[in-house]
Amino acid sequence: MTKEKVCKSKLHRPKLPPWIRVKVSCGESRKEVAGIVKDLNLNTVCSSAKCPNLNECWHRGTATFMILGEQCTRNCKFCAVNHKVKPVPPDPEEPEHVAEAAARMNLKYVVVTSVTRDDLPDGGAGQFAAVIKAIHARLPDVGIEVLTPDFNEDPEDLRTVLNAEPSVFNHNVETVRRLAGDIRSKATYDRSLRVLRMAYDMTEGRIPVKSGLMVGLGETDEEVKETLQDLRKSGVTILTIGQYLPPSKSHWPLARYVEPEKFEEWADFARDIGFEFVASAPMVRSSYNAGELICGK
Ligand code: SF4
Repeated sequence: MTKEKVCKSKLHRPKLPPWIRVKVSCGESRKEVAGIVKDLNLNTVCSSAKCPNLNECWHRGTATFMILGEQCTRNCKFCAVNHKVKPVPPDPEEPEHVAEAAARMNLKYVVVTSVTRDDLPDGGAGQFAAVIKAIHARLPDVGIEVLTPDFNEDPEDLRTVLNAEPSVFNHNVETVRRLAGDIRSKATYDRSLRVLRMAYDMTEGRIPVKSGLMVGLGETDEEVKETLQDLRKSGVTILTIGQYLPPSKSHWPLARYVEPEKFEEWADFARDIGFEFVASAPMVRSSYNAGELICGK
């Protein structure tokens, strides 16, 4: 008998439409992984964000680790990450611990992300590289996707990460140009496009570049299409589009629930303009089934 249950939504938003089912696993796999993560002093986005896709991803051997602590130096209006406490210095044991956790969880594909660390001279790029190298050394067959901040557009920081040879480089544009200034913190739409382009150029397309956006923030359908075109022009070949769900009443308000057919329409449009891998559906998140999307793992 499944131990999953549909948890009652305590979030501040209109009633969920029938195509959105927020299931939070309360089963054994969740407990087991939570134990490993706690034991090794790590954070996963999957459990700390109570991701609705947690069971599905873990079952498929994918998990997303959040490195460099839980305190962000920015404060995006859609994001529930803590920004009120001073961030702690990087943990030198973190790279080995992530590799150890990936081994214990028998992962086939690891996504590594972080809060934004504008307080660190390298923006945390060195820690990203150390984590990638530790996983490569311990688990040479495991795919590694990095979902990074913009590193304030510093090419050296970006190079540090790319030189460690992740399988995929991911940086989210998050929303359309018109809304980016109001919703994102310090990050800009054009800077994100430049970071994606730099990543593509630095590896001459050898490392696939991925990006994603949320919808339901107040964008128009046409603006979504313009964003997809901008991403393609910036060298992005892997795309995610998902429904924004506000984490609380004080976050950016929900403008609309987008119907599944619209997500399919955008997916078709994206493929038509040259994206190679597209995940576009209400419950898609940036690292949703990331390994499967890229390499069928
Ligand atoms: S930079 Fe990233 S982690 Fe920090 S507040 Fe913005 S979205 Fe959240």
